[in-house]
Amino acid sequence: MSHVVQAAQRAASRSTKEWQDADSKHFFHPFTDHGGLAKKGARIITRAENIYIWDSEGHKILDGMSGLWCVNTGYGQQALVDAAAKQMKELPFYNAFFQTSTPPAIELAELLAEVTPPQFKHVFFTSSGSEGNDTVVRMVRRYWDIKGQPERKTIIGRINGYHGSTMAGASLGGMSGMHAQGGLPIPDIVHIQQPHWFELGQGMSREAFGLKAAGWLEEKILEVGPERVAAFIGEPVQGAGGVIVPPSTYWPEIQRICDKYGILLVSDEVICGFGRTGNWFGCETMGTRPDLMTFAKGVTSGYVPLGGVMVGERVAQALIDDGGEFNHGFTYSGHPVACAVALANIKLIQQLNLVSHVKNNIGPYLAERFAELNDHPLVGETQTCGMMGAVQLVKAKPGTTFASELEVGMVCRAHCFGNGLIMRAVGDRMIVAPPLVMTRPQIDEMMVLIRRCLDLTLAEVR
Ligand code: PLP
Repeated sequence: MSHVVQAAQRAASRSTKEWQDADSKHFFHPFTDHGGLAKKGARIITRAENIYIWDSEGHKILDGMSGLWCVNTGYGQQALVDAAAKQMKELPFYNAFFQTSTPPAIELAELLAEVTPPQFKHVFFTSSGSEGNDTVVRMVRRYWDIKGQPERKTIIGRINGYHGSTMAGASLGGMSGMHAQGGLPIPDIVHIQQPHWFELGQGMSREAFGLKAAGWLEEKILEVGPERVAAFIGEPVQGAGGVIVPPSTYWPEIQRICDKYGILLVSDEVICGFGRTGNWFGCETMGTRPDLMTFAKGVTSGYVPLGGVMVGERVAQALIDDGGEFNHGFTYSGHPVACAVALANIKLIQQLNLVSHVKNNIGPYLAERFAELNDHPLVGETQTCGMMGAVQLVKAKPGTTFASELEVGMVCRAHCFGNGLIMRAVGDRMIVAPPLVMTRPQIDEMMVLIRRCLDLTLAEVR
């Protein structure tokens, strides 16, 4: 029996209403208002293939968000399924504590050292991006302890950055709604403004604004005291903040400032890694040389959970030569099944030439097609980077925004759902990050849907 038939049978074993009732009775969803969800009922997704998902009512939907920015190689890749099944039979689990290791974890560490920038020869495995960023905090502070500068504890992140949901991840991030719940950020984590030209830079050229925004890092370093600053962390392109592509001047200037004060640069590549920006990693697209690099999502295309931190030579040598035991680790650090799937996934990215497919083919095409949206009366700005795109909705051109209580982004998102497209709304910024296996005709298909949804939104809100 094919997996498609099996999935259809499982979905049909209960009605949508029965799934929804059981869901709202027992399942606490991430980032969800449960009162609201219980009234509406969750959308039940039952199967997927290539860039499409199907719900329990049989609707086919183009997944413009790759699940949650993760299904880089698309759904239904048999090589990943086979890798998981083979590893589960052979060795479903063994840990990496107590001086043991497993072949898939070793081979993946080797392959990661090959596909990441040359300063990275070592990896610390986790099961998620959040755990990766928790690891970053502990590793950065441990590094400065080893270096005899324990007062260097402060890590600088950015307002509207996203680094995960654990105590440290949510603290590194700059989401005010997350900080408001639970007394965050934890001590010694501070934030600077984001390089968001549309919100903060209008009236200046993008390039001049990029330098100004990078200058906020230097101001913060001087305010905290350079001898107390341990690291700066940022996403090459802010994803959850709304696909905010910084001006080209921003990251080189950030690198210069980090070098000037000797502070560690951490690139959070949980979204930007594994081909999303048209290079293997976003830091290559932005021209930085990070000391640490967090990854997750695209490493396995989301088929199983895996994350980690690439550790650059500067930090790795200190830990190895002078660090003794690093008192940190997870049961699933280097999980053999997750590592086997990641190996198969990275090899597939290589076989399908997906990085160059994004850089030279579909990335530039997405940019071209998104730029055409600027003729729409609702569109104030479009931005793309590789296979990420944003459409800023405005009340009037060039940049008059809607009152936030109108929730125009949510109106547009509802039209997308209703018309067979997953597009996410961050305020009034509509974003996509489709699978990297997408073709030009599939981009055309997505653009027809986006324009239709913009028209429907316009008719509703003006
Ligand atoms: N860092 C970035 C840039 C992310 O976008 C995310 C999740 O979206 C995370 C970290 C957290 O990853 P996870 O949800 O796997 O913990």
